[in-house]
Amino acid sequence: MERRLEIAHQLARVKAEIDLATHFPAPQLIVVTKTFPLSDVEILYELGQRDFGENRDQEGSLKSQGVPEDSIWHFQGAIQSNKIKSIVKWSDYIHSLDDLGHARKISEVALGLSKRQKCFIQINLDAPQIPSSGSEGARSGIKQSELESFATELKKLAGIEVVGVMGVGPLGKDPAPAFALLKTLSIKLQGVIPGAEFISAGMSGDYKIALQHGATHIRLGSSILGSR
Ligand SMILES: *Cc1c(COP(=O)(O)O)cnc(C)c1O
Repeated sequence: MERRLEIAHQLARVKAEIDLATHFPAPQLIVVTKTFPLSDVEILYELGQRDFGENRDQEGSLKSQGVPEDSIWHFQGAIQSNKIKSIVKWSDYIHSLDDLGHARKISEVALGLSKRQKCFIQINLDAPQIPSSGSEGARSGIKQSELESFATELKKLAGIEVVGVMGVGPLGKDPAPAFALLKTLSIKLQGVIPGAEFISAGMSGDYKIALQHGATHIRLGSSILGSR
């Protein structure tokens, strides 16, 4: 019961902050439940939360089976080829697509399941001249210069629906320029794939800045569930 009150409080607090930071339309809040138990997902579900994010296939697969069908699952971790079959089964959205070989396999698996897999293209937002370093998440993603050619290739895959761009803000630096860049790249993507207008950006530490730069999907874990 104590945990339920704690989560309810944090969820309400974060939602109020999101309301203050945005104009219509409201962004989609994804609660990142990685490393937290299924019981937390169940509490969130009872509180009305429907969108959940996970970084690992096995964890996401198990948790997604533990809550009712109308929950929406987002995969945002590094994609491993041998996990694609499973990921496509349980995830409604993949946020971390950055490899054409993976894309071809995702498309094939999705078509076999009679679905079109919704995907965000993950873009590396590090300044191009600075060699990437540090955190795992920030290093993933296609190069900014590759966006149009990558999107052109994805368009040929019948089992994939590209819904937008995804980026991870830089660690220990002002995230504003990175999120502004992501907004520009989103417009570029829509030049290739009209309607692919979603922007997945912002985590617990930087979501308010991401919202100022047009984020449509924010991925929050620790600000709602506590430190891992
Ligand atoms: C873990 C993770 C999040 C959530 O991070 P918090 O700092 O806990 O909000 C969001 N996006 C990605 C890609 C992550 O790996």
